[in-house]
Amino acid sequence: TKARVTEQGQESDVTFEDVAGLEEAKEEIYELVNFLKAPDKYLYLGAKIPKGILLLGPPGTGKTLLAKAVAGEAGVPFFSLSGSEFIEMFVGVGAARVRDLFQKAKARAPSIIFIDEIDTIGRARGGTSIFHENEERDSTLNQLLAELDGFGANTGVIVLAATNRGDILDPALLRPGRFDRHIQLELPNLTERKAIFKVHMRPLKLANDVVVEDLAAQTPGFSGADIANICNEAALFAAHREQKSIKKKDFLDAIDRVIGGMEKRSKIIT
Ligand code: ATP
Repeated sequence: TKARVTEQGQESDVTFEDVAGLEEAKEEIYELVNFLKAPDKYLYLGAKIPKGILLLGPPGTGKTLLAKAVAGEAGVPFFSLSGSEFIEMFVGVGAARVRDLFQKAKARAPSIIFIDEIDTIGRARGGTSIFHENEERDSTLNQLLAELDGFGANTGVIVLAATNRGDILDPALLRPGRFDRHIQLELPNLTERKAIFKVHMRPLKLANDVVVEDLAAQTPGFSGADIANICNEAALFAAHREQKSIKKKDFLDAIDRVIGGMEKRSKIIT
């Protein structure tokens, strides 16, 4: 999750080529791309297309990337909101934002709405919380449920939502006709890490001593986001060292630095 300012309704330039590994997820999601490209073909036959798909998986495993790739492959506008945006909003503002976004997406259908960190909005109700925040979340969640129920399969809007806390979601979100399809993403295995390194090495000037297999072997437990980070840190090291290419040593130092960041992160969480 990054705090990012994206223009709503922009076309995405991400394609499936940018998403390494995640073969099963990509296969499942390809159906959506086909639908978004030619909705009429499906609607003519009376096929029902899922409107809500939940992407589950640890941080940095490519949930946002995959959602953008769906929009990019299908060539449709991408609308997004992040659950964390709603935390400090006044009551009613979140609900209005949700209504507004759905309205815009419907006007430009076929289109994609992506809701990141949906657990922030859709945490099971009745939990303890500061009263104000709780009230706001409920009104935002209710609006979201109303929007999901309010459009039919033929609207051409597909809502993708991401969370790494599927266990705490309000069951109301998961009912049929809402987020009733789930796609689980996992941390990459050795082969997948290698593929992810390759994607992020595409724009880099590499020295001859860089061996992708070795880097993949040295990064068990790393997410796609961590690997993207390593590649960039390695490039920064090489630039700082006035080199003309990025060497193995730069990658090893980058791995150390990213591990340092991961340790800090887990200390904050626990
Ligand atoms: P979060 O739960 O933290 O929001 P996320 O699952 O949405 O994380 P992304 O934001 O999609 O993760 O991933 C962050 C970045 O990591 C991507 O922009 C991309 O550069 C890289 N990345 C993650 N997974 C992959 C992958 N499978 N292939 C290539 N790059 C990846």
